[in-house]
Amino acid sequence: MADQIPESTISEIRSTADIVDIVSEVVLLKRAGKNFQGLCPFHSEKTPSFTVSPDKQVFYCFGCGAGGNVFTFLMQHEGLSFPEAVRTLGRRYGIVVEDRQLSPEERARMAERDGIFDVHQQAAAFFRRMLLESPEGRTARAYLEKRGMRSETIERFSLGYAPPEWDALAKYFAGRRVPTTYLETAGLIIPRKSGSGFYDRFRDRIIFPITGVSSRILGFGGRVMDDAMPKYLNSPESPVFNKRRSLYGLEAARGRCRETGTAYVVEGYFDVLALAQAGVTNALATLGTALTAGHVKTLKGHVSDIVLVFDSDQAGIRAALKSVEVFRKENMDARILVLPEGHDPDSFIRKFGAEAFGAAARNARSMMDFLMEETIRKHGLSVEGKLRIISEMQGPLGAISDRMARSLYIRNLAEKTGVDEAMIAERIAPTNPPGGGRRGPAAAGGGGPAGEACLTGRHIRIERKIITMMLQFPDILPEVERRHTLELFEDEQLKSIGRRILTQYSTTGKYHVSDVIEALDDTEREMTVNLAIGGDVWDREGCLRLLAQFESGRKRQKDNLLQKIEAASRNNDQALLLKLLKEKQHRARKRQTIN
Ligand SMILES: [Zn+2]
Repeated sequence: MADQIPESTISEIRSTADIVDIVSEVVLLKRAGKNFQGLCPFHSEKTPSFTVSPDKQVFYCFGCGAGGNVFTFLMQHEGLSFPEAVRTLGRRYGIVVEDRQLSPEERARMAERDGIFDVHQQAAAFFRRMLLESPEGRTARAYLEKRGMRSETIERFSLGYAPPEWDALAKYFAGRRVPTTYLETAGLIIPRKSGSGFYDRFRDRIIFPITGVSSRILGFGGRVMDDAMPKYLNSPESPVFNKRRSLYGLEAARGRCRETGTAYVVEGYFDVLALAQAGVTNALATLGTALTAGHVKTLKGHVSDIVLVFDSDQAGIRAALKSVEVFRKENMDARILVLPEGHDPDSFIRKFGAEAFGAAARNARSMMDFLMEETIRKHGLSVEGKLRIISEMQGPLGAISDRMARSLYIRNLAEKTGVDEAMIAERIAPTNPPGGGRRGPAAAGGGGPAGEACLTGRHIRIERKIITMMLQFPDILPEVERRHTLELFEDEQLKSIGRRILTQYSTTGKYHVSDVIEALDDTEREMTVNLAIGGDVWDREGCLRLLAQFESGRKRQKDNLLQKIEAASRNNDQALLLKLLKEKQHRARKRQTIN
């Protein structure tokens, strides 16, 4: 597929796009030496092992092994094909990629996405005009005023109003000759059950456009102004809208989230607005759904500290308990702020002000504390109650992988319940051994009978080192070519990566890691990026020593076995000869299987 787009276009985009820019839209990156690090968007982790190299323009996760260049990142994160990733970046950096270079399906998919975004843009303008200028909008304007919404807030969040008629929006679009398929897929209009034609999804509602990080409108939320049901109505899922990942207010909150490192997650759209109006501009809301793993993934791309804000009623506390579970599964921490009885963020900030909200947020409890206190409150401290508390806390406490943290929480629980600390500790076995399931840089080689594996392991290690050198110190490439070093490689995968580097170097006279990896398959690409991203220091002499050491080791190994075979055959030691020949065969086969 890649060859449909001219290499010159691809390489122009590749050299213009900055991987740090692109990744940091969705991953919170911190500088770590020459590289940047953050929490991996592809697997759940607590300590950052996701690394981005601005020099090499590649990313690699030491936790799950995901790796690649700027195109690979977009493909994996957004679920795009290669040409789509190229085109997306091209558009962002103002480089034209011809449409004919996409397959018909891809072209249709892109056209549909663009069509829906366009329809959203036009619909938002329509709703806005209805709110601000139309006579029907008068009630909506009065309603917003009654809720204390100032005009700059209405402006900032681009609020709108859907008039009460059945087909105001449908008519509006009919006049503008917009294809109904896009409107229907976007969920703005719904086909009538009887007869033909469509009616509007949103009627007589305040409209909240839901914007993604790219500033494009993903969908809409609509709220009634009286007690009608449903209170909130959202756009349905569409090719551009995923409710389980999207958060209301993300675009407006993003900057402040990055500055403070904190995000407040509230329950309603009006909570976001009220907080922003009071100066707390880093608040977001889920879209009427419970918090999901997708939301947590989105959030951790922007902040390191998440405060979940809940109303103090039972529903709020139940929701809080549920989200503890979601965060636990995603290996992410959050703090929980339950507001005083009878308040939601909107009413709280109106009554007590932004400073009081900040103070309450600073004192927000850790999830584990919250869970412990709620469990104790639920069961009480009778003997029965204590037994239930310990049994309910078993899972969450066992899941804490940090041993120190676990034992501190166990002590805390012992103090709160008066149950012996050792007894609790005995019950709570860690369910999640630290580092379990990780794929470290060392895990790639190995296998086979122990002795052989050990020998092979050593050779593979030095072969890996040579490829690492080639990736990080291109000055050595002519020497590697001259000595035919790769011909001595046992590991076929490393050999093929090495060949790819040499080909790239000899055909273009220059070489960059991010260019090489497009032609590789997933495993090769991940391995290449893993080796390339390290910060080893190379000098020419050390490199030559490494090559010489490798060559002589390989020669010794070969000579050794051949000598032994000769000696055994001279001595007519049939048993030994058979064993040695088997070993020779085994090595040959090993080379083949790697192949
Ligand atoms: Zn990862």
